[in-house]
Amino acid sequence: MKLTSRFFIRLVFLSALLMQGFFTIATATAAPTNQLNALRTWPSPNNTRVVLEFLHKPSYKIHYLKYPDRLVIDLESTSMAVDLSKIKHTGPLVNNLRESASKSKNSYRVVVDLNKASQAKIFVLPKAKPYGHRLVVDLPHNQLSTETEIKPKQPAQGRNIIIAIDAGHGGDDPGALGRYSYEKKITLQIAKRLLKKINHQVGMSAFLIREGDYFVGLHQRTAIARKGEADFLVSIHADGFTSARPRGASVLVLSKRRATTEQGRWMENNEAHSELIGGAGKMMQGSSNLPYLQKMVLDMSMGNSMAVGYKVGYRVVQELKKVTPLHQAAPVHASLAVLKSPDIPSILVEAGFITNRTEERLLNQAAHQNKITNAVFNGIYKHFAQSPPQNTLFAQKKRVIKHTVRSGESLSILAERYSVSLNSLKTYNNLSSSSLLVDQVLNIPPNYKLAIPPEPPKQFVRTQQPPRVHRVTRGEALSVIAAEYNTTTETLKTFNHLRSTSLRVGQKINIPGSYVKTPVVRAASVHKVGRGEALSVIADQYGTTTDTLKSFN
Ligand SMILES: [Zn+2]
Repeated sequence: MKLTSRFFIRLVFLSALLMQGFFTIATATAAPTNQLNALRTWPSPNNTRVVLEFLHKPSYKIHYLKYPDRLVIDLESTSMAVDLSKIKHTGPLVNNLRESASKSKNSYRVVVDLNKASQAKIFVLPKAKPYGHRLVVDLPHNQLSTETEIKPKQPAQGRNIIIAIDAGHGGDDPGALGRYSYEKKITLQIAKRLLKKINHQVGMSAFLIREGDYFVGLHQRTAIARKGEADFLVSIHADGFTSARPRGASVLVLSKRRATTEQGRWMENNEAHSELIGGAGKMMQGSSNLPYLQKMVLDMSMGNSMAVGYKVGYRVVQELKKVTPLHQAAPVHASLAVLKSPDIPSILVEAGFITNRTEERLLNQAAHQNKITNAVFNGIYKHFAQSPPQNTLFAQKKRVIKHTVRSGESLSILAERYSVSLNSLKTYNNLSSSSLLVDQVLNIPPNYKLAIPPEPPKQFVRTQQPPRVHRVTRGEALSVIAAEYNTTTETLKTFNHLRSTSLRVGQKINIPGSYVKTPVVRAASVHKVGRGEALSVIADQYGTTTDTLKSFN
């Protein structure tokens, strides 16, 4: 027994030695098992994301170095298929990305040279189309870059209604994939068009939550909207599906219930995934741990924003119906984090299916993007024109004006003066006929037409005036006569050899011949350019200037 056990111990010891030797040899000779295939940087205003893409799930270690600040990433058993020197556009924080001597033969070392110390948030993402396994390094800029200041333009009277526009996805999160395009690009293009459209509307202004190709966490998106004091948040997306068949646009609104449709549920799951990509890694927390009163207040304001969200969503669906097929004929209820801002009503617009061939082509076209943009704008605009938030210019314009009819005023004159239709004026005042009585009081309906129409080009007609003779009547001064003939007192004095400006009744005043420039208000017309026609020639023909034509067109 004693002998046997000693032998056994020796055997174990020997085999341990052998095994150790074997493994030493194995690690020294085996090729690296993983490969770094790509490295991307996504600088955003507040943070720089560095994404390393691998063949397999990466195994890594990091540490920081000071003087200068560096982040060192050691990748175990990894070979290199990227030229780090070719990586540009690293943003304000990352100075350089380079390879460095690693401690062991098979590991690979990436050094991130920083302009300022930054504590990275690092996480691994599984393979997801179009990317492989990823190591995501989020480097916050801290005080380095001044936060993007959102200062919507505000008129002195009623304030503007502020719309936060959120372009879905971005950076290493491409969103849904079409055959040749990514959702993140289309969402940003439509968002930018909507921004322009809203900012062109008097009484409204907008800002973008994501301005470039970088990812913004879902909760951060609503935080940015809140910081910009948005009255409303619209998130722009394009749908994707596993088959090419589904098509059409839809609008999603927040619901406290679970998603009411399959699509809503799918969106929820998809968004959870997107949130992981965003690095926050946590879903909207339940409010069960909030004190009772606080929870109730939250629920109440949530109720109000949800109601507004639904109303706007409904209007946007009605508008989208005019320009594109619908995937869902009514707003879809979903419990999405991007919509879950308790104080800002919001909707999520799915502009169409990028996975549908026809719609992918359309979604990439400027003309179609404009149609979607206009539909979204009209839906939002119509809601706020009817139910404007307090203290806004829209609220001021909505106030009913009372008008007391004076002699000579007709219904059509008043309709034109207040920019309302004749019919709306009649129905608003329950009038059966168009005849008005002096001192009759009319209610002028709210005027939604706040947009300033482009001014027609100013046109002048030059007419030649022959010399004439003017006979002075009682009380007429030389300055009055000068004004009547579009000339000056001085000109008349010299032309008539007058020593003073005093005149007598019946005196003859010679009026010199002149060119008179009279402005003509002509309806804007369309001119078809002929061969070899210059803009200056056309301008002359219509009595306008090249500059006017340039800005007008
Ligand atoms: Zn999306």
